[in-house]
Amino acid sequence: MSAPSRTLIDVSAPATSRTSLVRRARKTDRVLAQTYPDARCELDFDDPFQLLVVTVLSAQTTDKRVNAVRPTLFAAYPDAAAMAAADRETLEGIVGPLGFFRAKTESLLKLSAALMADHGGQVPGRLEDLVKLPGVGRKTANVVLGNAFGVPGITVDTHFGRLARRLGWTEQTDPVKVEHEVGALFEKRDWTMLSHHLIWHGRRRCHAQKPACGACPVARWCPSYGEGPTDPEVAAKLVKTEGRA
Ligand code: SF4
Repeated sequence: MSAPSRTLIDVSAPATSRTSLVRRARKTDRVLAQTYPDARCELDFDDPFQLLVVTVLSAQTTDKRVNAVRPTLFAAYPDAAAMAAADRETLEGIVGPLGFFRAKTESLLKLSAALMADHGGQVPGRLEDLVKLPGVGRKTANVVLGNAFGVPGITVDTHFGRLARRLGWTEQTDPVKVEHEVGALFEKRDWTMLSHHLIWHGRRRCHAQKPACGACPVARWCPSYGEGPTDPEVAAKLVKTEGRA
């Protein structure tokens, strides 16, 4: 891929109109979709319960590690009823490789107990119900809604927030405000895939420390072009071909 030698956005110009911002944001998303045709939730799951659990477990660890413990975890506890009745030490042993095993075990026991008490052991398909579950915030709820229920949701994790700001789509730092401002730029039906595209781009090219600007397919629409190396050869070395290690 040839990187542009300069950004086409005049960042010193007055704020662009809303229409051009919308057009630029949607064009950027379309190019990211072409760049990452396999973009999806990088956590493995078979049903909403599994996705809810693995998303909770993915805090402060990698998707790869969570995917590695998943078969053992769900072979032992295939549903909320089984997990709510789990022997604490056995569960701690299974989630041990993820770190913070006591806290994670406690979260899973409380979460499963709440699913049993309030939802008949099923994962609810509404945001307002999901965020009332222990240990489930808006980010986790939107992951579950978007990927297990097909309800459009924007997942503002660290990558999404950073990229939305770099791309000039928002100046907000509060995740809920980012969610609403960015959501307003796109059709609702595109929210879930938009989240995957930005997160994949953040994991592979637009890194927090050294974004690979010289190897970035959306550089021409990015006011932050130049925040990382623009030399194509230098930038190419920064590109990761896989997701989180
Ligand atoms: S890699 Fe550089 S040009 Fe591309 S989106 Fe990130 S900051 Fe912008």
